[in-house]
Amino acid sequence: MLKFNVTPQAYPEKRKPEKRAEDFNEIYMEYAVQKAEEQANRCSQCGIPFCQVHCPLQNNIPDWLKLTAENRLQEAYEISSATNTFPEICGRICPQDRLCEGNCVVNKGFGAVTIGSIEKFITENAWEQGWVKPFAPKSERKESIGIIGAGPAGMAAAEMLRRQGYKVTIYDRYNRAGGLMIYGIPNFKLEKWVVERRTEWLKSSGVKFNLNCDIGKDISFKELQSKHDAILIATGVYKARTLETTGMELDNIIPALQFLIASNKIGLGDKLKEPMSMGGKHVVVVGGGDTAMDCVRTAIRQDASSVTCLYRRDRDNMPGSRREVNHAEEEGVKFVWLSAPKAFKGKAGKVSEVLVQRMRLNGKDANGRESIVPVEGEDYAISADIVINALGFEPEDLPALFNEPRLKLNNNGTVKVTPGTFETNIEGVFAAGDIVRGASLVVWGIADGRSAAQAIISSLQSKAAIAQTQKQEGRRARM
Ligand code: FAD
Ligand code: SF4
Ligand code: SF4
Repeated sequence: MLKFNVTPQAYPEKRKPEKRAEDFNEIYMEYAVQKAEEQANRCSQCGIPFCQVHCPLQNNIPDWLKLTAENRLQEAYEISSATNTFPEICGRICPQDRLCEGNCVVNKGFGAVTIGSIEKFITENAWEQGWVKPFAPKSERKESIGIIGAGPAGMAAAEMLRRQGYKVTIYDRYNRAGGLMIYGIPNFKLEKWVVERRTEWLKSSGVKFNLNCDIGKDISFKELQSKHDAILIATGVYKARTLETTGMELDNIIPALQFLIASNKIGLGDKLKEPMSMGGKHVVVVGGGDTAMDCVRTAIRQDASSVTCLYRRDRDNMPGSRREVNHAEEEGVKFVWLSAPKAFKGKAGKVSEVLVQRMRLNGKDANGRESIVPVEGEDYAISADIVINALGFEPEDLPALFNEPRLKLNNNGTVKVTPGTFETNIEGVFAAGDIVRGASLVVWGIADGRSAAQAIISSLQSKAAIAQTQKQEGRRARM
């Protein structure tokens, strides 16, 4: 270990930009065993590992790095999978530069230990060696839990509950499990077979999936409650934030998820009624988060004539991962910083131009974020055949969708839960993931799903203990 000053940091090889823009395959290659061991050896085995502190799952990173460096790969896999339901997925798509790697002590001066790539390597190797097996609980329990939403939060909770022997059914309105890991995140970051393999693993471990089942429409929330001893709401956030801009009514101004879902469906082999393609078009994407990055990079792969990303702050103040911006720039995306759409203009009802308002930074606001103000007199127009709105997501109105007006929400529309217990104001109804936290990350969905499962287990066990005590007291009273 401690080789950070002699072994240079090396990520797995990245495919050349011109090659990767031709397809939707993942852009990084795999580490070979020797390379993974060499990179793991760079870890300095810190007494207080900041990498672990800043991992939402508190993964035991130093231990699995040491085991990898010593070629004890099965043990490395066991430790890594003890705290993470989908380590190979997090290894691929966590914004490591903001989490574990960004806080690695050797980052400054030597370059962080390549934690995410090694995590992916450990689990991919484990799949290859046949070490990842369906699990069977020690004993079956009679209680059942209904989970609404087969995204990372719902699936991670399902793993924890099923391991304890509970009957678990996940309901999802889509025809495939995985949530945004299937229908939001593009293949070039996370190929779909990786997610589907995990769905099969959960199925083989006894988790039931009830797909194409929209709770609130196909089954009422009340009926679901009557079927299960506890409910977990893990429905994510899907309502696109809209722009308040003149010309929004024009055709070809579309929400980001509509575009990404269509692209992912085509990649999965589905036939769409109205296939959407950016081929030969001038595409303008509005937004500076990871969803915007996915849109620009998808448009490049669909052979758009030009792809421009408009963001109202500058590069240093954008919410998206720097790494993703670099990938996008390498692939030919043009970024226009400090710029926001002022109006959309059209021909024959379709958008044809974006009038761009220049902005400037204006000092930090109360939340510590750089504020912006318009710069007058510097507007200009750019051509656009398609505008993609990637300004983020808000929760749908769940009390209305579920016909459950008692369900309490926070001011921003997310579901209100008691911190630590994940229980809503309705007894036996829990919630986790983006629907509680707001649009976030897969790793946070996994962390919340696992914690919510523990809370459900505690709640069911204490209910069972109370019922048992009451039964015994009743028996004693009758004697
Ligand atoms: P979701 O993944 O949204 O899953 C919720 C599920 O609930 C869905 O399958 C939905 O169909 C189902 N559902 C909703 N309502 C109902 C209902 N009434 N009945 C039945 N089922 C219902 N995070 C990262 O860490 N890295 C990334 O690179 C990354 N890229 C992203 C790219 C895009 C384009 C987007 C949109 C998000 C990205 N994220 C990324 C964020 C991440 O995908 C989410 O934070 C995460 O998926 C949230 O997990 P979840 O389980 O809470 O919800
Ligand atoms: Fe880093 Fe994400 Fe893995 Fe945690 S789960 S170690 S943050 S890549
Ligand atoms: Fe190793 Fe970096 Fe974590 Fe320290 S912070 S234990 S060097 S990975």
